[in-house]
Amino acid sequence: MYSFFPGVILVLVLAACASPAQPLAIPPVTPALPTATTMPSPTTVAIATVVMIHDDPRSIARLAITPSPEPPTQTASPAVQICSPLAEHRLNELAAITSDPYHPPPMGKDDRHQGVDFSYYRQAGRATIEGEGVQSVLAGRVAAAIQDSFPFGNLVIVETAKDDLPDDLLQALKPAQGQSLYVLYAHLEAPPLVQPGDPIQACQALGAVGKSGNAGVAHLHLETRFGPVDRVFSGMAYYTPRASQPERDNYVLWRMSGVFQHFDPMVLLGGYPLK
Ligand SMILES: [Zn+2]
Repeated sequence: MYSFFPGVILVLVLAACASPAQPLAIPPVTPALPTATTMPSPTTVAIATVVMIHDDPRSIARLAITPSPEPPTQTASPAVQICSPLAEHRLNELAAITSDPYHPPPMGKDDRHQGVDFSYYRQAGRATIEGEGVQSVLAGRVAAAIQDSFPFGNLVIVETAKDDLPDDLLQALKPAQGQSLYVLYAHLEAPPLVQPGDPIQACQALGAVGKSGNAGVAHLHLETRFGPVDRVFSGMAYYTPRASQPERDNYVLWRMSGVFQHFDPMVLLGGYPLK
C-alpha cells in the first residue's frame, strides 16, 4: 500500500546486473525537488486511491492525486494499470523475492546493479522461479525484442509514453520533456513472444523467467529508465567478441551514456511509498 501526503514530493532515484567497470562518464541526474507549484493550499488535501482491477490481484490502478475538497473544475486523471512483472506473484509480494536490489554504480561505471532481481526457491508450486510467466508492468510499445544476447540474454524492452504514466510517479521522478519510460526484462527462458513495434497491454505475456545471458541462476532482471521517445533497439550486447558494433553502441547508449536514466524499479512497482 502507498502512503500519500499533501504536497508530496519525491525522491528521485537513479541508477544496474553486474558488469565490469567502464570509464565512460554518466551525467548526474538531479533529484527532484518540491516546488511552489506542487504544494497544496491549506484548503486542499491530497489523496490517492489504489484499487484492484478486473478481479486480478496481481495488478493495481494508480489514480492521480485528487484535490479534496475539490474545486469543481478539477478531475482525476484516468487510472493507470500497473501489473506485477511476474504472473504468479502480486506486486506486494515482490519485495519478499528480491534476490538482488537496485544498487546503482558510481558515476562513470557499469558495475554494481542498475536494476532489481527477482528469484526464489520452492514457491508458488515451483521448485524455482524458472518458467514463471513474465508480463508487462505497463501498457506501451515494444522497443526491443532480442534473442540470446550478452549480458541480458533473451530480452524485451517496453516503452510507455509519459502521458500514460501515473501522476504520482511523474511528480516523484519528474522526467524531462520528450522522455518516455522504458522497462527492460532480461534473462528470459526463450526468445521473446513479442516483436519490436508491437502494442502491449499491461499484464500482457512477454515470456518466462530463465537464465539466458549472464545469469548463473534463473531470475528476472528488471530495469526502469527514462529516455528519448520512440527509440528501438534492434540489438544490444557487450562484453563478448560476438557483439557487433551496433549492438555495443546500443548497450552503451542504454547503460552508460546517461541518455537513459535509471531509477529504482521498486518505485514503479510500489515497493516504496511515493511520499
Ligand atoms: Zn540483475
